[in-house]
Amino acid sequence: MGGQEVRAVYGPVPSWRLGLSLGVDLLLPPKTCTFNCVYCQLGRTARGVQGPWEVEDYVKPEELRAELAKVDREVLNSVDWVTISGTGEPTLNPELSGAVKAIREVVGDKRLAVLTNSSLLHLEEVRRALDPVDLVVAKLDAASNHTFTLVNRPIISLGVERVVEGIRSLVHERGYGVAAQVMLLEDVNDGEEHLRALAERLRSLDIGLAYLSIPSRPPSESHVKPPPSYKVDLAKRVFEEAGVKVKAFTEPAEMKSRTGLDEERALELIRRRPCRALDLVLCTGASEKEVIEVLERLVKKGLAAKKVYRGITFYEAAKH
Ligand code: SF4
Repeated sequence: MGGQEVRAVYGPVPSWRLGLSLGVDLLLPPKTCTFNCVYCQLGRTARGVQGPWEVEDYVKPEELRAELAKVDREVLNSVDWVTISGTGEPTLNPELSGAVKAIREVVGDKRLAVLTNSSLLHLEEVRRALDPVDLVVAKLDAASNHTFTLVNRPIISLGVERVVEGIRSLVHERGYGVAAQVMLLEDVNDGEEHLRALAERLRSLDIGLAYLSIPSRPPSESHVKPPPSYKVDLAKRVFEEAGVKVKAFTEPAEMKSRTGLDEERALELIRRRPCRALDLVLCTGASEKEVIEVLERLVKKGLAAKKVYRGITFYEAAKH
C-alpha cells in the first residue's frame, strides 16, 4: 500500500441504510472474500477463500481496541452506528468473536451493525460471535443456485440453500436484529418470477426488513447495470405483498461530520469504496474545492485513480 499504514477504523461515512456510520474493517486490503460478486465495488476478489481457516492477514482484537480507543469521543458520539464491514467478508476474521467483543468493549452502548454476505452464517461459531451485535445485515441476492452463481460467483463451495439455512438459524436464535440486503441487477435478478421467489424466501425466513440496493458505484464487471426504476418499484411491491418491509436505496442525506479532510483520511475512505467528490464533502464537511484538491493530489502521487461509471467520476485507491 505504498508504504502507508492502513487503518482498520475509517469514516464516519454517510450510509443510506444506517445514517452516519463509523466503519471498522476486520480484514484490510486487498479484498478477502468467499464471493466474487459481479457488482463488487472493490473489484474482483484478490484473495478468494473457503473460510476463516484460510485467512492469514487480519486485524487482531488488540489492534482494534487500540485503534478505536484513539477515535475522538466527540466523533464516536456523533455517529448513529459503528458498522463492521470493509474490504471483504468480515466474518472471515479468524478471531471474529474476540474482535466483536473488543469493538463492543470500546464503543460501549453505541449501536453496532455488521454487513455480511451470509456465506458463513451456517457456522455456529460465526453466529455466536455476532451475539454482541445489534443488527446483522445479511446479503441474499438470489433465490436459485443459477442466479447465485451469476450474481455472487461463490468461491466457497456452497449453494443458496445453505446460505438461506444460515440466515434462518440466525433469525431463529436471535429473534431480533436481522435485516436482509438485496442487490438488484438489470436483467440478472430483477425479473418478476425471480423477485417473487426471493420474496418468498425472505417471507419464510421471517425477516422483517430488506434493504434494496442498486449498483451506484463502479462495479467489478463493466456489464453490470442498475435496473430501471420501474423494476425497483416492482421489487418493492412484490416484497411488500409478501409481508417484507423494504427500504430502497436513496442518496444519503447530507450528514456533514466535522472531521475535516487530509490525504490520509481521503485514502482510508476510497480504499473501502470508490467515492465521488460529493461523498467526501458529505463525510467531512470540507468544501468541494478542498476535496477535489486532496483527491487530485492523491492521483498525482499514484495513490488514487479516477474511474467513470454511468457518467459520474469516482476516485478509488490505486491497485499496486
Ligand atoms: S460485494 Fe461483498 S460479498 Fe460480494 S465480493 Fe464484494 S466484498 Fe465479497
